[in-house]
Amino acid sequence: MEFHHTTPWRVGSSTPEAGSPKKQFEKIRKEMTAKGSTGMDVLLSTLENTKDLQTTLNILNILVELVSVGGSRRASALVSKGGTQILLQLLLNASKESSPHEELMIQVHTLLARTGPKDKKFGVKSRINGVLTITLNLVKQNLQNQRLVLPCLQLLRVYSTNPVNAVSLGKNGVVELMFKIIGPFSKKNTGLMKVALDTLAALLKSKTNARRAVDRGYVHVLLTIYVDWHRHDNRHRNMLIRKGILQSLKSVTSLKLGRKAFIDANGMKILYNTSQDCLAVRTLDPLVNTSSLIMRKCFPKNRLPLPTIKSAFHFQLPVIPVTGPVAQLYNLPPEVDDVVDESDDNEDLELEAENEIENDDDIDQNFKNDDIETDINKLKPKQELGRPVEELKMYEHFFHELSDDFQECDLIAKEPKPLAKEGNLGGPIVVPTAGEEPPVEPNILTNSVKKNIISQKEEGDKQPTFLDLAKEDIKNSDNPLQQQEGDQNRTVSSSQYLTSDLVKALDRITLQNAPQTSQSFTAGIKKDSSPHLTSITCTKTCPHISTCGNVLFEGRTVQLGKLCFTGVETEEDDDSASNSSVEQTSFEGPNMPPLHDSDLYVEIVKNTKSVPEYSEVAYPDYFGHIPPPFKEPILERPYGVQRTKIAQDIERLIHQNDIIDKVMYDLDNPNYTVPEEGESLKFNSRFESGNLRKVIQIRKNEYDLILNSDINSNHYHQWFYFEVSGMRTGVGYRFNIINCEKSNSQFNYGMQPLMYSVQEALHARPWWIRVGTDICYYKNHFSRSSVAAGGQKGKSYYTITFTVTFPHKDDVCYFAYHYPYTYSTLQMHLQKLESSHNPQQIYFRQDVLCETLSGNSCPLLTITAMPESNYYENICQFRNRPYIFLSARVHPGETNSSWVMKGTLEYLMSSNPTAQSLRESYIFKIVPMLNPDGVINGNHRCSLSGEDLNRQWQSPNPDLHPTIYHAKGLLQYMAAIKRLPLVYCDYHGHSRKKNVFMYGCSIKETVWHTNDNAASCDVVEDVGYRTLPKILSHTAPAFCMSSCSFVVEKSKQSTARVVVWREIGVQRSYTMESTLCGCDQGKYKGLQIGTRELEEMGAKFCVGLFRLKRLTSPLEYNLPNSLLEFENDLIESSCKVTSPTTYVLEEDEPRFLEEVDYSAESNDEIDIELPESVGDYEPSVQEDALSDSESSKTCLP
Ligand SMILES: [Zn+2]
Repeated sequence: MEFHHTTPWRVGSSTPEAGSPKKQFEKIRKEMTAKGSTGMDVLLSTLENTKDLQTTLNILNILVELVSVGGSRRASALVSKGGTQILLQLLLNASKESSPHEELMIQVHTLLARTGPKDKKFGVKSRINGVLTITLNLVKQNLQNQRLVLPCLQLLRVYSTNPVNAVSLGKNGVVELMFKIIGPFSKKNTGLMKVALDTLAALLKSKTNARRAVDRGYVHVLLTIYVDWHRHDNRHRNMLIRKGILQSLKSVTSLKLGRKAFIDANGMKILYNTSQDCLAVRTLDPLVNTSSLIMRKCFPKNRLPLPTIKSAFHFQLPVIPVTGPVAQLYNLPPEVDDVVDESDDNEDLELEAENEIENDDDIDQNFKNDDIETDINKLKPKQELGRPVEELKMYEHFFHELSDDFQECDLIAKEPKPLAKEGNLGGPIVVPTAGEEPPVEPNILTNSVKKNIISQKEEGDKQPTFLDLAKEDIKNSDNPLQQQEGDQNRTVSSSQYLTSDLVKALDRITLQNAPQTSQSFTAGIKKDSSPHLTSITCTKTCPHISTCGNVLFEGRTVQLGKLCFTGVETEEDDDSASNSSVEQTSFEGPNMPPLHDSDLYVEIVKNTKSVPEYSEVAYPDYFGHIPPPFKEPILERPYGVQRTKIAQDIERLIHQNDIIDKVMYDLDNPNYTVPEEGESLKFNSRFESGNLRKVIQIRKNEYDLILNSDINSNHYHQWFYFEVSGMRTGVGYRFNIINCEKSNSQFNYGMQPLMYSVQEALHARPWWIRVGTDICYYKNHFSRSSVAAGGQKGKSYYTITFTVTFPHKDDVCYFAYHYPYTYSTLQMHLQKLESSHNPQQIYFRQDVLCETLSGNSCPLLTITAMPESNYYENICQFRNRPYIFLSARVHPGETNSSWVMKGTLEYLMSSNPTAQSLRESYIFKIVPMLNPDGVINGNHRCSLSGEDLNRQWQSPNPDLHPTIYHAKGLLQYMAAIKRLPLVYCDYHGHSRKKNVFMYGCSIKETVWHTNDNAASCDVVEDVGYRTLPKILSHTAPAFCMSSCSFVVEKSKQSTARVVVWREIGVQRSYTMESTLCGCDQGKYKGLQIGTRELEEMGAKFCVGLFRLKRLTSPLEYNLPNSLLEFENDLIESSCKVTSPTTYVLEEDEPRFLEEVDYSAESNDEIDIELPESVGDYEPSVQEDALSDSESSKTCLP
């Protein structure tokens, strides 16, 4: 770094001191000519050696000027050349004079205050040199001398960033001294006031100093001063001073005593009122935000209003695990209050780690390098069977395709397919495309709906509620099977129209080109010009709805019948107005979800076993869902939502009398009857996949909602699905889900919850839509017990808040975290797929892999093409097709994975020529729902065993984790018979990232990230694991390659992906993660994800597999040149992986204008224990461990 002589060199102008002037100049001359020596070196060297005051002052002047002009670069240069040490020595020497030279002191302090922050060891150095008290005493003795005091205060501020120094200065009265300097509003000395406040805030970060301040009553003083400045600083010229006062309050309230003093001094009300005044002025935002932070800190921690945080439902496990969270839960003494710790009060010793341990499978935020598997032996595939071959024989019967000779079958020998020449290879492959929309026909719907309106008044204010299943009927029947058969026969006959024409048409709509088919179909239906859903419902269900009602919907026949017959209820309020918020661009064909059959659904629900023994069906599951025909953009977050919501929460404390605090729903207290009041909303969650535990009305239109924990667990709240009724229109209702646990959520980044309106469904709009405004996710004032927080005390819960305006009066609406997909829905879809497929073309088998803990069957599907004939060669080709193994929904809250799986299944069962080629290429083994019990009971993460099933793959217990045990068994069997799948993929959902992406396993990429094992780069590894994601990134619009990762983490060692890779030996073993929120790249950039896009992803995944097939065996086909080039490209780019770009350590999301605030927790600093014997002049033992520059964040273990 070259020094430029911009200032006159004036050393020579001073009179050299007698004694050694010659030597001095000699030295300077030498240094100036020495190689690499710079002007800065010379100046410092002179400064160190000269005894001449004027010389010293001159050099100090120059240095001050240099540092002021050159900024931090010059300051750093000065530090790197040992400048701080020289300056400290100079300060020490000067202080020994009987009366220190004032100008010298000013200059030295100024320089040290500028350069100190650049010196990582400055705190230690200043203490060793014993200059702390020198500066302090200078201030004490010269309070009136502003010119001297200002740089001294500046330096005190720098000293105080080191916690040891802060404590030491505190003992010498620095806190009291600062309170002599700061004071009420004054136009004078604002610079001094500002520095003193900054210094005070730094000092008060030390707990000892904070306690001293509290003891001397300074909390009250700070509040008084703050109010004074707030009142008088009308033109807001002193915002920084006002913020400085708040900073000190913020430091003091980190202490429990400080919070108490703050509350006692009426701090909540003072800061609340002052910040309300500041809201209108944008430049005062820092004041509002800091006030909000302090108030949240001081807001008394509440326990959740629950008797226990254990699930409201109990399921007795067949075996209780010996260790782990479930064992701990079972071993808790009954008298332990798991909602709150008595010892929570003792939180002064607590230190909140902001980076919490997340329970998500796929969180990268906390993903530190030490999670990467470094043991090369653990990375190398093991490939042992794990279970004896004889035992694995039990899985033989799931592989009929390997033994069947099809002699009984009526197979059609077909012409060999012209595979390579077809458009499906070279040209675009036809798959359902989410983006295509039919032409706009907005009027058809509205007109036809209005014709059918029958006054709702006829039925009084009876409203559609849930459907009641008469389980009694099954129980009372002597022969339940017979009963069920009867029902099914009836279903079949009544839905004949559906199965024959409708389903075919719909099938084509979903699986091929939507607009064309839908138009021709619509034309047929439009004859009676009634709304589409209604006509379909009538055609299908009306002939037997009365019977149906009597048998199934006891006591509610009229309601359902009316809904079905009349279709539409009268709506006084203007429909178009209420829907104007949702941009309705078009109306699409028949509104009957493909594969959906409401009667069949009800039949299936009867056989679904839930722990709470649900007997109701949620309307959305009964009607089915089709994606809405409009786009749903990612919501832009308006500025200031968070602080408004937090202010409203704080008002609960300040205006306690305004709080209604009335329980509106309570699963823990089934006999609780909600007071009948027309104004309040009614809630319900007693249906499959439902999750809502308790509701408390807070204000007229505001409700606190509490979610149920996973069964046999006391946490994992995130998934919700519940019904709301009794609403009015034109009112914004605020919902707060107050016991969320994750530290961040896509709700902060544009994701909206989903709502399904029954009235809308009856208006031929049977779809879940993204709703809600003022959405935000933040840490709240409810505290987790240490039982729930894994031993940590005083951790807070988080709130998701959203505000909804309902489209219809007295509607029944449903809210969900994501598009629900129940176990019964899966069973229905599988039955529909099975009954509608062409058995001559498609080999489809549905087996029961095993029973779950509560006795539900876990389906296993086998899908491939029928052999072309039963000739030997064809049977051989059939049996030798490589396997693909897919699974989904191990995590119940990740419903998106089920929609992706639905897309995969529908594609695989379609008549699309590529799908046929794909079936002829592979045998698919699919477990579409690995965790049926979790799904049924509304869990978010776990099975009934209270454990995350995707952490059990290493040693699944057959009694506790049967689906994992047997899914792994299948794979082990495949390994034993040397038929390993080419690809294994487990579908998941990701709550904190956008797009769709994959996690795979690679030794090399894992080693790259550890950097410490270069030798292992010799590992020979096929980069084939990258091919499939690479293909998908070219073909699937939602897929994003740069979010993929192929690193093997220790924390994931018992997941399906890692175990199937390492133990079973499948090279292409993946987790495919689909966003719950939306995309920030590709065709869907800026849009929230919908079921159409998710299903498309599932279909595109299949197309990707087809391309993979040709890449893995390119000689099999004569590919067109263009395609070959494309695929060579793929292979090449996948081989050229040189930099580990895929391992993302950064934050998932960029920062917001309004910073997302998670720091409301009382975050008491642990002070450095300063032994009495340690004086200012001796380094303490701990200080080497302290990095001064980081001292504000320092926390000792
Ligand atoms: Zn997952």
